[in-house]
Amino acid sequence: MNDHKISNSPASSIETLLTHDGREPDEQFGFVNTPVYRGSTILFKTLADLESAQQRFLYGRAGNPTTESVEAVVNALEGAHRTKLVPSGLAAITIALLACVKTGDDVLITDSAYEPGRKFADGYLERMGVSVRYFDPHIGTGLTELMRPNTRAVLAESPGSLTFEVQDIAVLAEAAHAGGARLIVDNSWATPLYHRPLALGADIVVHAATKMFVGHSDVMAGTISTTEEAWPDVDRIRTLLGFFASGDDAFLVARGLRTLSIRMAAHQERALDIAAWLETQDAVTQVLHPALPSHPDHAIWKKNFTGSGSLFGFVLKPASRDAVAAFVDHLQLFGMGYSWGGYESLCLPVKPGKARTVNPWTRDGNLFRVHIGLEGVDDLKADLSAALERYSAVR
Ligand SMILES: *Cc1c(COP(=O)(O)O)cnc(C)c1O
Repeated sequence: MNDHKISNSPASSIETLLTHDGREPDEQFGFVNTPVYRGSTILFKTLADLESAQQRFLYGRAGNPTTESVEAVVNALEGAHRTKLVPSGLAAITIALLACVKTGDDVLITDSAYEPGRKFADGYLERMGVSVRYFDPHIGTGLTELMRPNTRAVLAESPGSLTFEVQDIAVLAEAAHAGGARLIVDNSWATPLYHRPLALGADIVVHAATKMFVGHSDVMAGTISTTEEAWPDVDRIRTLLGFFASGDDAFLVARGLRTLSIRMAAHQERALDIAAWLETQDAVTQVLHPALPSHPDHAIWKKNFTGSGSLFGFVLKPASRDAVAAFVDHLQLFGMGYSWGGYESLCLPVKPGKARTVNPWTRDGNLFRVHIGLEGVDDLKADLSAALERYSAVR
């Protein structure tokens, strides 16, 4: 496979990169966007062409111009050696882990990790003879003591799913590397616009492209970006397993990426406004948003991130299930559902307790996770305000 790179921009700024990278109008009759390529078979003109395997595309499963249009943009954003588009964020996590381990190896995963990734590790890696251990998301330099001679991968997520602990990637990378392991980071929350784990020492960065990259709740996709050292293993495992993202889906990821910087700025501003407002509400005991000065990891966030995402949590005073139902059942604008990253706001009651093994979630009260969409901030506050009143009335 050749290493064709599509970079049209002088990359003077992130905004220019997002709007110009990964496009090849000259290859598409002048059309601005790379269209949807559908296809399995790619034709060779001669036996010599077939044998040399030097064509840019050889077989559909390895990718096509539409999937490459996404990979070029994400690769430039992450400052990676190579990036691959895969069918989902979970597939990005599973491929990244499989690329690092073999039977007899050991992996360490943050206790705050996205739960389906944990389930893959417990339900599949363990079965293949890989030991799986979890660590306190605040472990920092303490990771060194947990490393074993056969530890080959450390999976971090910053901030953590549901509970929003921020992890110091540079510290984890140093400990992982000293012990002969690679550091994988799930960077879905901040996107590479606001956090670049490879620059902080990570080896592999995974994204639920389904979320902010796509931005419209209409596609499942994931990306894996790696250093030059990690790329051959990731490329080999993905190829062996046959993971492929379709041109139809890739087209929508590429479309989403074009507006990522203005969407992130708008999500960030609205989410911060609403998070700060929630802190002043009576029924709210805690807001879990790393960019708020009240967040326990605010200092690490400030050091490593240049912005914040759409997603945060808040805890309400202890109350019955009926109160939680009163809160969510009559929301007018916030929808209730999994995933996040779209233009529409979401609110989900969550129970991190069952997904924890190292740091049990023991806080009193009910935890909610919200994704702040692109609606009017005052409308969203009014929706939450009415929900808080219903909650307090039922408590
Ligand atoms: C949603 C999510 C994933 C998984 O992405 P899918 O595309 O749904 O498979 C991984 N990590 C985080 C942090 C997520 O929020």
